Amino acid sequence: MYCKQCGKEIADGSQYCSYCGAGTGLTLKSRLLAGSLRLI
Ligand SMILES: [Zn+2]
Repeated sequence: MYCKQCGKEIADGSQYCSYCGAGTGLTLKSRLLAGSLRLI
């Protein structure tokens, strides 16, 4: 996947860009969809 902020390629599933630190939007919602919720 690519950072929508700086355009660098970053690892799939990353919550933040490792280059510019921008959030990727893959946060709680994506984890819910993935069925790996661990809030408890
Ligand atoms: Zn970035």
